[in-house]
Amino acid sequence: MCGVVAISGSKNAPIEVLLGLMNLQHRGQDGAGVLGVDQSGYHLEKAAGLIHGTDLENNLTDCKQKQAIGHTRYATVGRGNPDLLQPFILPDDGISLAHNGNIVNYLALKEKLQEEGLIDPESFVESDSYILLLLLKRALHKCAGEKAKDYRWRSQDKSAIFDSIRMVMAQAVGGFACTGMLGDGTVIGFRDPHGIRPLMIGTKTTTDGRLERALASESVALSYLGFREIQDIHPGEAVVIYEDGTVERQIVAAERERPCMFEWVYFSRVESTMDPISVYQARFNLGIELGKHVQELGVEADVVIPVPETSRVSAIALAEQLHLPFRELLVKNRYVNRTFILDTQESREEALKRKLFPIQNEFEGKRCLIVDDSIVRGNTAKQLVKLIEQAGAREVILLSCCPPIKNPCYYGIDFPSQKELLAAGRNEEEIAKELGADRVIFQTLDGLKNALGRKNGPDAQDSLCTGCLDRGYPTDISAFERFAAQRISDKEVKQVEPKP
Ligand code: SF4
Repeated sequence: MCGVVAISGSKNAPIEVLLGLMNLQHRGQDGAGVLGVDQSGYHLEKAAGLIHGTDLENNLTDCKQKQAIGHTRYATVGRGNPDLLQPFILPDDGISLAHNGNIVNYLALKEKLQEEGLIDPESFVESDSYILLLLLKRALHKCAGEKAKDYRWRSQDKSAIFDSIRMVMAQAVGGFACTGMLGDGTVIGFRDPHGIRPLMIGTKTTTDGRLERALASESVALSYLGFREIQDIHPGEAVVIYEDGTVERQIVAAERERPCMFEWVYFSRVESTMDPISVYQARFNLGIELGKHVQELGVEADVVIPVPETSRVSAIALAEQLHLPFRELLVKNRYVNRTFILDTQESREEALKRKLFPIQNEFEGKRCLIVDDSIVRGNTAKQLVKLIEQAGAREVILLSCCPPIKNPCYYGIDFPSQKELLAAGRNEEEIAKELGADRVIFQTLDGLKNALGRKNGPDAQDSLCTGCLDRGYPTDISAFERFAAQRISDKEVKQVEPKP
């Protein structure tokens, strides 16, 4: 998972992009990059690690380009490898790209491009995002031949840009939300045909009367920068923002909308809204739905306790639904990174030990409903149950706002191997035993769909991506096996330690 931002029409687009990316830091912490362009050429800055504290801000202060794109990286493979930081750029062709998601048929596309002689081994970057960039280059050349290098043609022949994006979309299988830039400062964006990954557009008129446009993975980044009229880019939609601020949008490859349910459950910031449910409202609804399920099961308890931070809103709603006291008795050490994003078992376990502290005495003799957003590998949950029992709880009932995650994600969330998933092949009793809890209760699939505004009924399974829950994957699945095998071998072989 990653975050993307693009700005057009600013007095200082690179800095605005950077500020936008800071608001998307939760989407990726491996490193970030910002690319600006003007008549004098490109200015590209990249840095590993969290944005705050790197030199990015200082290095971009004097960059006054009107257009820029940026990316913050979440490493599913190649953590700490600076070559994999985006945006990627083909300076001779005047195109650049930043991408959030995964291209599942990446290897087949790479082979095809190799056969056609379109991969230069000297400059090639082993990344599905780079493959998208090469596909875009090839598409632009197919649409315009030699004229593709003429930036003025691009601004004039508007249909060719959409046709090029349509060609890319027809070949790439997976979840992807991209922003890019052409050499004349034209900003482009597109979202996969099912809208698995989010992308928004916003507009603002500045105090000096300028019209600015922006794209971003989440609305919170746009709101923070003062953009209004924030809208979703639709599944399969391409958007082109010309240098003069004109915007054109076209659906070039739409299929049925199937956004990733995990964006609302865990990944996105609670201030964001997408497709078109607010994350706050979705999490509140998840709590209500889970509360109803707990009521149906006849579970009795004394107190509702959230696992900070993501599940707080759901726990409040659940406590209201059950008429039980809501108590924040697990306190987070805010200086430890989100554990999910750390990608070795040892680092996650070590981080967990430092992450949460129970308020002693408050658990004594109580039947506790502990609300978590989801249970993926179960590391956090296992550690928590131990801590709560040590604090004197009489009963520990673990509630998951998400149904059991049993299958890999191929679209950008980092749980690629089924053997890593606690719920794979286990029922609730077995999971509770594994975690040392008295009981574990999961959200139902219908509860999840209700909470996210997707109606139950015959069409319900088609309204969200639920691949990791019930194998309801929206795309062609024939390339999954090869993709997963490659990812696992990449993880084993290619991790690069960050430079000190
Ligand atoms: S498989 Fe799960 S995590 Fe992956 S995109 Fe679909 S819903 Fe999201």
